[in-house]
Amino acid sequence: MKAYTARKTIKTGKKTAKGMRYILAVAAVLAAATVWRMLYRPQQPVQPHLQRPAQRITVAVDSGHGGTDTGAKGLVNETQVTQTTAAALLALLQADGNFAPVQVHTDEECPTPQQRAAIAQQAGAQLFLSLHANKDTSSASYGFECYAVPPGRAQHEESLLFARIVCARMAAAGARLRGEDGVRYAYYRRGAKIMKESSDSREYDLPTFGVLQQASCPAVLIEQCFISNAQDLAQWGSAGGCAAAAYCYYQAICDYFGTEPLPAP
Ligand SMILES: [Zn+2]
Repeated sequence: MKAYTARKTIKTGKKTAKGMRYILAVAAVLAAATVWRMLYRPQQPVQPHLQRPAQRITVAVDSGHGGTDTGAKGLVNETQVTQTTAAALLALLQADGNFAPVQVHTDEECPTPQQRAAIAQQAGAQLFLSLHANKDTSSASYGFECYAVPPGRAQHEESLLFARIVCARMAAAGARLRGEDGVRYAYYRRGAKIMKESSDSREYDLPTFGVLQQASCPAVLIEQCFISNAQDLAQWGSAGGCAAAAYCYYQAICDYFGTEPLPAP
């Protein structure tokens, strides 16, 4: 993180302006989140001590693949990225007294997406993050995606809100958001995956990703980078890249629950 921070401070004027736009984008998302909560959650009592929740907030972290299922194979196996990132995120959440992280499976296991969602539900998770890395036949593809629970389903609004916060944090840290704004919906029709942008609010009667299909709490599925693109992999899939992405996710979780993040380790 030190080298990363140092790089950020010596940006050119053009990049600084770009950075300012990202910071403004983060601020806009956070302001929108606050307004959203004020407008749509009037039934909830005012919480005077948001910075210190009375009980730890349970956050479920899914490293996407494990055991014999090593995920997609690119320049590295997908699990190399997702398990490294999951371990870093779990450590960040563990160090923060506001959170009780739950790892929904170990690196050696490969439970089904439905089983992982069920484990999160049993643990009383209030948020679920499923970590993945992307792969394409074209090595040119790169960037970040965050899939939300689709429109018309339970958890959609909160899932979309969290996905937007995650994308804002990743963009502020220099990631390229794919599509319109990085937030997307996935559907399956006869086994083929269909992707829709977050602006498509139509309700499709099609299954989405397994971990999002029966989510009992706000859930997102993240595609952190392309393991088929060397530069993307170096930026967001290396040990330092995974740590940087994990810190973005941690900050997004703090933004979402209104807590103060600890400084980057
Ligand atoms: Zn995956």
